[in-house]
Amino acid sequence: MNKKLNDLLFQKIPGKRTVLVGFIIAAVLTSCSKNNEDITTEAQTAALKSANIKKGQLGGQEITYERRDGMNFFQGDIVLSDKQLAEGNSLNKGGAALSRWPARKIYYTVASNMGSINVNKITTAVNEYNNKTNTQWIPRTNQTNYVEFIFGSSSGYDGWAHIGFQGGKQNISLDQNISVASVIHEMGHTVGLYHEHCRKDRDQYVSIQWNNIQDGQAYNFNIYNSGTDIGAFNINSVMMYWPTSYSKNGLPTIKKADNTNFTYNRTGFTTGDINTINAMYP
Ligand SMILES: [Zn+2]
Repeated sequence: MNKKLNDLLFQKIPGKRTVLVGFIIAAVLTSCSKNNEDITTEAQTAALKSANIKKGQLGGQEITYERRDGMNFFQGDIVLSDKQLAEGNSLNKGGAALSRWPARKIYYTVASNMGSINVNKITTAVNEYNNKTNTQWIPRTNQTNYVEFIFGSSSGYDGWAHIGFQGGKQNISLDQNISVASVIHEMGHTVGLYHEHCRKDRDQYVSIQWNNIQDGQAYNFNIYNSGTDIGAFNINSVMMYWPTSYSKNGLPTIKKADNTNFTYNRTGFTTGDINTINAMYP
């Protein structure tokens, strides 16, 4: 396995793109000659990545998202429902402001195939929310509106979640090797949080390194103007991308505004994260 392929296969990027792309690249590699494998794989990768990129409306703003596995992925690991996109030309529809969980209560179930390691991570993350924020995550009995934690893959580090309260059943998908803090991150999308680096004021704090972003993935770094920014920008937020997200060359795609590197937090909530959630759920 060459280094380039290895990097592509094992980069920890949001969503499941890496796994999907990796398998297809591997399939291509076995069927083409050694001399042109890099050229072929790059072309295949670019074609795959651009095939399902779509434009839509969310919160009165034009957004770019990817249609994949019958779902709409926004900013990498946020799933938008078809209903949210259908309502998207109305201001604030589909945004966090009108999609908060009633009475701060989020009922949840865990898929029977989740496995004890991930069940323990979910329990830890639920306790973090219940102890530190105003939201309460409560095991479902017979509630109509709830979240199910579903098992995504036995090898990956990724997850995804619907954004905000959807009504009915909605999912959080977790891979086997995801960290507790990344479970907290995905649950953050469920309570209504977008990514920190997409805030309107982010350019005062971070510098997007556009030249290092994989072809076709720049839209994941677009500012989302229709969100409501709460509190100060927090580069250590559990809702930040990491510094090399979607990097095509291993170099940072996000740096601090002064062009220095920052350290990626996936250890858990910051005070800013807690304050933001509590402002949304007073
Ligand atoms: Zn995310």
